[in-house]
Amino acid sequence: MIPENLDYDALKKRGFLKQKQEGLFLLRARMPHGNYDKKAMNELAKISEEFGNGFLHLTARQGVEIPFIKFEDIEKTEARVKSAGIETGTSGARLRTTTTCPGNNWCKSGLINTFALYDRIENELHIKCAMDLPHKFKIAISGCPNSCTRAQQSEIGIHGAVDIQGGEKRVGYAVYLGGCGGKTPCIGFKLNRVFTEDEVLKIIDAVVKFFKNNAKPKQRLALLIEQISRENFLKEVGLSKISVVQ
Ligand code: SF4
Repeated sequence: MIPENLDYDALKKRGFLKQKQEGLFLLRARMPHGNYDKKAMNELAKISEEFGNGFLHLTARQGVEIPFIKFEDIEKTEARVKSAGIETGTSGARLRTTTTCPGNNWCKSGLINTFALYDRIENELHIKCAMDLPHKFKIAISGCPNSCTRAQQSEIGIHGAVDIQGGEKRVGYAVYLGGCGGKTPCIGFKLNRVFTEDEVLKIIDAVVKFFKNNAKPKQRLALLIEQISRENFLKEVGLSKISVVQ
C-alpha cells in the first residue's frame, strides 16, 4: 500500500521513478564510465528477476533500468543494488550521470582519457549524479570531435581535440556550453580554444556553481544564458577573455 503523502521526489533522487502502471516503480542503476562488468550485469539481472519482471532496459545515458518494482520492494532492491557496488541514477532537478564514450581507452579515434576526466569531476570537484540543482543538468564527455556522447547537446559538453600552435600539435579539450535536448533543444556554443584538463575542470566547477546559484527552478542553462546574455554569462564564469565560435 502506497502512503498518501509519499515523497515521490525523494524517491526520484534515490533513482526510483514512478511508473505509468499504478503502484510500480523503475530503478535507474548506473556504473562509472558506463562500464558494467560481468558481476554487475549478473547482479542486475538477478535483482530484476527477483524484484522486477526479469528484464533490463539500457537508457540513453548509459544507465540500466529495472522496471516493475513494487513499492514495498524498494528498500530491499536498493539494499541489494548498493551491496553489489552498483550506483543509482536519478531524475528531477538534479545533475544526471555524466556520460563518457571510451575515448583513448580503446577507441582508435580517441584523443583523451574520458574515464580519467569523469573520475576527476566526481572525486575532485564532487560534482556527482543526483547533486541537487534548479533543473536538470547534463555533462557529456567524448574522446574526439566525432562527439559520440553528443557534447553539443548537453549543458557542458567536452570532446578531445588537437591544437596546433607554432607548428606543434597538442591534444586537449574542446568545450561547449548551454546545450540541451528535450522539447526545446539547443546546440551549445563552442569556446574558441583548446583547453588543458585542469582548465576544463575549472570551467565545469564555475559553470555548475553559477547555475546552482542563479538559475530559477525549471530553468535550463540555455535559458539562463539567454536571459542574462552570453557575454555576461562568460564574465560570471571567468571566461570573459575567451571568444566563442559562432
Ligand atoms: S567520440 Fe571519438 S573516441 Fe569517442 S567513441 Fe566516438 S569516435 Fe571513439
